[in-house]
Amino acid sequence: MATCIACEAEVDTLEMEVGDTLTCGECGAEMEVISLRPLELELVDDVVDDADEVGSDDDAADEDDEDLA
Ligand SMILES: [Zn+2]
Repeated sequence: MATCIACEAEVDTLEMEVGDTLTCGECGAEMEVISLRPLELELVDDVVDDADEVGSDDDAADEDDEDLA
């Protein structure tokens, strides 16, 4: 068992492996298993937060970058 990062409810980590994603039954938060010994969980909120943060600043510049790549 582990503790939900968001609401501190107990979440079942039985048969979990590093890289797996588990969902808290209490608050629905998604967490990725970072490490098993010791058990470490990380909240998975927005998968593409990178584009989101930059996009709010200047969309045109973002498209430019994609063209170059
Ligand atoms: Zn929770």
